[in-house]
Amino acid sequence: MRIDLHTHSTASDGTDSPAELVRNAADAGLDILALTDHDTTHGWAEARAALRDLPAKRPLTLVLGAELSCRIDDVTVHLLGYLFDPDEPQLAEARAQLRADRLRRGEQMARRCIELGADISWEQVRRIADGGAVGRPHVARALVEAGEVSSVSEAFSSQWLADHGRAWVPKHDLDPVRAIQLVRAAGGVAVLAHPAADVRGGILDDARIIQLAHAGLAGLEADHVDHTPAQRARVRRLARELDLFVTGSSDYHGSNKELPLGAELTSQDSYRAVLAAASGTETVRSTHT
Ligand code: AMP
Ligand code: ZN
Ligand code: FE
Ligand code: FE
Repeated sequence: MRIDLHTHSTASDGTDSPAELVRNAADAGLDILALTDHDTTHGWAEARAALRDLPAKRPLTLVLGAELSCRIDDVTVHLLGYLFDPDEPQLAEARAQLRADRLRRGEQMARRCIELGADISWEQVRRIADGGAVGRPHVARALVEAGEVSSVSEAFSSQWLADHGRAWVPKHDLDPVRAIQLVRAAGGVAVLAHPAADVRGGILDDARIIQLAHAGLAGLEADHVDHTPAQRARVRRLARELDLFVTGSSDYHGSNKELPLGAELTSQDSYRAVLAAASGTETVRSTHT
C-alpha cells in the first residue's frame, strides 16, 4: 500500500489543481492520498469529483484534510487535520480568519518586495494565487517572473521571504492546543507536520510536544524530506513514548517544490489509526469493489 498523507493543491500553494493532484496520485501508483491544503478545504469538492472519473484500474482513496497554520511564541507549527467536518462552525471560522490574514499579509509582502526594487505587483500575486489561500510561494513566483530570483526556493532567503527576511511579514496563526481542540471537536484527527524540521526555523522541544499530546494530538509526521535521519529517530522515539502513531508524506506542492508524490509514505497501521479516530468526514473511494 502506498499512502501519502500530506499534499497541496492550487487551493493553497501547490501547483496542481485538486483534480490534477488526484489524477497524478493515481498515476504515481498511490492507493491513499490526503489533500491537506493550508488553512482551507476549498479543494475538497473538486478532488472528490475527480475521483469519480478515475479509471477503474487506478483505484484511489481520498483522505480529506487541511494543514493549519499555528505558532507558539516564535515557533511555527503546522498541524495536519484529517477527516474533520468542514461545516463545523468554529473550525470553519478559524480557517476563514487564517485565510483573511494571509490575504492582508500577502499584500504587505508584495509591497515590501516592491519597496526593495522588485518589479512585481499585488495583482500579479493574486493572479498567481488564483483564488487559493495566499502564501509565500505565490509571492516567490512573482519574484521569479520578475527575474529577481531563479526559483521559488531561492526566494526563501533572508534577502526576501525567509522568516524575518527583508520582505517577510508575520501572519495570524492559531495556538496549536486550540487547533487540536478545534480539529477534534469537528470529528477530525490531528497530526503534527514536520515537527523536527529545524531547517525551517525554530522547532518544538519534547516538553511542548508532550503538552500537545495531552491536548489530543494523535500522530507525528516522522518521514518528511526536511527531517534528517537523527530527527526522524527523535520523532519515532517521542511517538513511542507518547503512544502516538507516525506518518510519512511527500508534502507535495507540484512544481513549487521538487519532491514527487509518494516520495515518503505512511504505514497501513498508522492509516488505520487515523480512520479509527475520525468521525467528521468519510474517506472517499474511486471504486466500490
Ligand atoms: P506561508 O505559509 O505563507 O508562511 O509559506 C510557507 C510555505 O512556503 C511552506 O508551507 C512551504 O510550502 C513553502 N516553503 C517554505 N520554504 C520553502 C522553500 N525553501 N522552497 C519552496 N517552498 C518553501
Ligand atoms: Zn505549502
Ligand atoms: Fe507544512
Ligand atoms: Fe505542507
